[in-house]
Amino acid sequence: MEFRYAEVIVDLPINEVDKPFTYLIPDQLREEIEIGYQVKVPFGHRQLSGYVIELKEEVESDSTKLKEIIKLKSSLQLFDRELLRLAKWIADYYQTYLITVLKSVIPSGDITQKTERIVRLNYSVPEIKQELAKLSKRAYKQREVLEYLIENQDQDLTSTALAEKVNTTSGTVRRLYEKDLIRYEEMEVRRDPVADIDFEPTTPFSLTTEQQKALNQIENLREAPESGTLLLKGVTGSGKTEVYLQAIAQVIDDGQDAIVLVPEISLTPQTVKRFKSRFGDQIAIYHSHLSNGERYDEWLRMKRGEAKVVVGARSAIFAPFSNLGLIIIDEEHETSYKQGDHPKYQARKVANKRAELTGAVTVLGTATPALESYYQVQQGNYQSVSLENRIDNRPLPPVEVIDMREELEAGHRSIFSRRLTAAIEDRLAKNEQIILFLNRRGFSTFVLCRECGFVLECPNCDVSLTYHADKTLLRCHYCDYQRKVPDICPECESRYIKYFGAGTQKVEQAIIEEFPTARVLRMDVDTTTRKGAHQRMLDRFRNNEADILLGTQMIAKGHDFPNITLVGVITADTALNFPDFRAAEHTFQLLTQVAGRTGRGDIVGEVVVQTYDPDHYSIQLAKEHDYETFYQQEIEARKELDYPPFTHLINLIIKHEKEVKVSKVANQLGGILNQQIRDRELNVELLGPIPAPLAKLRGKYRWQMILKGRDLDMMRKLNSYSLEALKKTVNLESTVISVDVDPIKM
Ligand code: ADP
Ligand code: ZN
Ligand code: ZN
Repeated sequence: MEFRYAEVIVDLPINEVDKPFTYLIPDQLREEIEIGYQVKVPFGHRQLSGYVIELKEEVESDSTKLKEIIKLKSSLQLFDRELLRLAKWIADYYQTYLITVLKSVIPSGDITQKTERIVRLNYSVPEIKQELAKLSKRAYKQREVLEYLIENQDQDLTSTALAEKVNTTSGTVRRLYEKDLIRYEEMEVRRDPVADIDFEPTTPFSLTTEQQKALNQIENLREAPESGTLLLKGVTGSGKTEVYLQAIAQVIDDGQDAIVLVPEISLTPQTVKRFKSRFGDQIAIYHSHLSNGERYDEWLRMKRGEAKVVVGARSAIFAPFSNLGLIIIDEEHETSYKQGDHPKYQARKVANKRAELTGAVTVLGTATPALESYYQVQQGNYQSVSLENRIDNRPLPPVEVIDMREELEAGHRSIFSRRLTAAIEDRLAKNEQIILFLNRRGFSTFVLCRECGFVLECPNCDVSLTYHADKTLLRCHYCDYQRKVPDICPECESRYIKYFGAGTQKVEQAIIEEFPTARVLRMDVDTTTRKGAHQRMLDRFRNNEADILLGTQMIAKGHDFPNITLVGVITADTALNFPDFRAAEHTFQLLTQVAGRTGRGDIVGEVVVQTYDPDHYSIQLAKEHDYETFYQQEIEARKELDYPPFTHLINLIIKHEKEVKVSKVANQLGGILNQQIRDRELNVELLGPIPAPLAKLRGKYRWQMILKGRDLDMMRKLNSYSLEALKKTVNLESTVISVDVDPIKM
């Protein structure tokens, strides 16, 4: 049997074609080529790169017309059959191009191994010693080099490095080469992303009863014939990571591999350290802040089986393991597991699929499960286990909710309520540390009455209206309801109507004015763009170089600071009023997470939450640390409004430089979709088309529409059909239509 043909997915610019092309395999490549190799192929007048996705003995078409593969571009297989199946599933599920998915699956950037020329002795040590005796007296530097080499053969030195060791030039080394006493050897160099960190080995803790129960449950699932998912619900500090570590130890014992996903923002040296310290070099690290070379080398260590476990961000779900036993997703509720660019996959979903394809087990760890995940538990599709107590039985901190409307009534107009002000002053006096959390998500602001807390909402959609400064209009991003910004509150006729969205800079200014002695660290996207800036700020805070850490989401998770005894949430409402049906869920999760930042040392911490909506269930239940009740209320609301997990959404965004073009294409597509829905009596709703919340981004206008329904398969077909029909009726030119299945941001 001989494969003479290869199906190749060619790396074409998006929108050209999305199907494999058949090429002849030249004789000299037939031995080597396999699925997953990168190749160079002729395409029209171009030479393009592509990936082999199938080998064939015969083809149906006229093979004399086929062109030959020019050469192999990779020296090894970049994906195997299993990852290819996963990639195809992703392309299918998320309605995107296979090439786009494949490029996410393989390591990005340069995929070549770095090598160096290492100096080796050319003869055995006794022989070299004889040669040493023969060397001229004046060649004492050459003698030193040889003597050093004899003593340090294991150091793998390049000639420059060797010369440096004995304080000479590489010319000396070259003369030894000319005398045939040494030779050069090409050796792979490993670019180790954590080469500069020392790891003290750790031993496993003896587990608490709760931890042991969780570990047993993971083991039982692993022994079951089919793949399964376990939700590990446990407050921060309840010992989840220790459970992961011990589960991984068993996976390694069984000769299997494990993937651990953590949110990119919490891939701090501390996290890496916990895994490396337990398992050493068996751990690979994988995330987007590595250099291309480091990423490739870590990938290669997994591919070769040198690393058995990867700790990484979202894309580590594509780790090139061949015997996967366990996938762990820590902080599984994090929205960053959904990729923002194409392919817009949700790593949690992909993990379940990969587990299903390989028989592996998925563990989802969190204190506040994503509604979708907990729903799966309720439906009996996932197992669950919880860790109810913190390891040292430290209590969760008390949460106090401050009604900001009362502050105004009392004539107090500061960003900080009287209660929070007093608490801050108290901690400053005691030299204890404070976190001030500003929940600012996205770009838009909402309108709120400072007198009665009334927020302007869409009458049809149960989301707050967004303020568009350019047009002085308020708009609903789901149904395009719009109205003018009122001068007085429609509810209480107060004139204190305000566009909300205080930025971190504004809060920093207020801190400086009201607490002049406080040392503040402001952490937001503006102050953390430089590489490592984020970590440096956290280190400074840990070293007590500041009293107050002020920041956005990025301070909410994963960091352990023993000296923090106060957490203040400036306005909980900014998340609540974000135009998104997940607003309440995100608010609950954020408040729970921020609260978890305090009370880790010996002193009990305290949390002060400021809000204009103190009775909202997400705030009240976060105060009570009551996830169960929150889930019950929220799932009812979702059911009522037909939102996920009861339905699926597909968000379609149309982008172009010209506004007229965008609105025209959007309306045309909307027309086709509506026609189809009517003609075929499909059980799906079309919301829009309307201008997107981000109506203009990077010079492009954006419109969006949302398909909402229960039958995702049908929705995808409807979508594909309509996009094809659209291409026949209008010239899209450079219009981009971006499809987002199960979107996380609206
Ligand atoms: P989580 O991942 O749920 O936040 P961790 O695994 O980080 O919790 O555990 C919190 C702290 O308790 C860590 O410092 C950890 O080393 C310690 N710890 C975990 N399990 C045990 C145990 N069984 N006995 C003693 N200490 C433990
Ligand atoms: Zn609406
Ligand atoms: Zn009012």
